[in-house]
Amino acid sequence: MMIQENVPLAPLTTLQVGGAARYFAELRREADVREAAQFAKIRDLPLFVLGRGSNLVVADSGWPGLVLKITIGGITSPNTNDAAGNAVFFSVGAGVNWDDFVAQAVAQNCAGVECLSGIPGSVGGTPVQNVGAYGQEVSDTIESVRAFDLKQDRVVVLPKPACGFHYRASIFNSTERGRYIILRVNYRLKRGGAPSLQYADLQKHFAERKTQPLLAETSAAVREIRQSKGMLIVPGDDDCRSAGSFFKNPVLSEEQFKDLAERAASKGLEVPSYAAGQSQSKDAQRKVSAAWLVEHSGFSKGYAAGAAGISHKHALALINRGDAKASDIVGLKDQIQHGVQEAWGILLEPEPVFVGF
Ligand SMILES: Cc1cc2nc3c(=O)[nH]c(=O)nc-3n(C[C@H](O)[C@H](O)[C@H](O)COP(=O)(O)OP(=O)(O)OC[C@H]3O[C@@H](n4cnc5c(N)ncnc54)[C@H](O)[C@@H]3O)c2cc1C
Repeated sequence: MMIQENVPLAPLTTLQVGGAARYFAELRREADVREAAQFAKIRDLPLFVLGRGSNLVVADSGWPGLVLKITIGGITSPNTNDAAGNAVFFSVGAGVNWDDFVAQAVAQNCAGVECLSGIPGSVGGTPVQNVGAYGQEVSDTIESVRAFDLKQDRVVVLPKPACGFHYRASIFNSTERGRYIILRVNYRLKRGGAPSLQYADLQKHFAERKTQPLLAETSAAVREIRQSKGMLIVPGDDDCRSAGSFFKNPVLSEEQFKDLAERAASKGLEVPSYAAGQSQSKDAQRKVSAAWLVEHSGFSKGYAAGAAGISHKHALALINRGDAKASDIVGLKDQIQHGVQEAWGILLEPEPVFVGF
């Protein structure tokens, strides 16, 4: 393990803003993790675990402690089958590019992650905010997470129920934030399974289709839709210099939603929403489109605020228009939050992780 000093973090993130890490190490092997953790502990340095930087806003002052970039690789499939003979288990290194794993699963005709095609980031980053898109979430297929527990100073395996998955949430970004360094993620996929076509955009894409699309066709359709929304990283496309969706879709109680719907109706508008219930008790909750709220609060696609702006293709993606600082991005975030709260009485919650603020 080699420790470097004053390593710029902006080039290691998709938003490309922010300062340097005081100390930085890249970890390719599980065996290096304890040593790196010790380095930080002895010097009383704050630790930040970096994946592929696709969900981060790094402060202009950078990170005062140690940044550990996890690049542990390897996709193994022990080929364990369940009674029905079609469950396939994959164990994937935290540093593997998520989209490479999805491509491999799809190529092997394994269903479960096809709608998560084209999401940037590492495999280790996916459990953190329970990555999801187009009707699938990683928690649908995660069996367990192998991690280094900084509290107990040992490697542990957390079965799915221990991960506390919810919409864009897990123990890793809430109750146990900063406790675990994810080393590998174990997924259970279904060989020969049907693609998930719950999402309206996907149903529309295949509307003319008489037969069920293949997993590969579903994956390609997702990528096409994502590209049209600037949610696929395409070199040379300035709308991709983002951290993806900057705000979570608010989940409202029945009463809050009624208020919002009435406000909208008084302006002759209808708020796009869908049921958010994961359990019986939450059935009445509604998830509301954050993009709609942003666009109906005076912030259109292509909106510019100095070096920061909103993508021309998606109202939820805040972009670095060239030489933005983190403070420009945060300024625009504040402006949007304020505008939406004024217009609709809802405080949008940011989705990316703020590092060093
Ligand atoms: C264009 C674009 C589109 C996107 N679309 C989606 C989408 O459709 N759905 C969605 O859910 N997200 C989306 N995202 C957000 C992002 O891709 C995901 O959150 C991704 O999983 C982040 O992974 P990462 O490796 O880049 O993590 P990073 O951004 O490096 O880190 C994110 C968080 O995870 C933690 N972390 C990362 N790796 C580890 C590890 N090994 N152990 C412990 N903690 C770790 C970090 O400490 C940090 O708290 C999008 C982003 C962009 C730029």
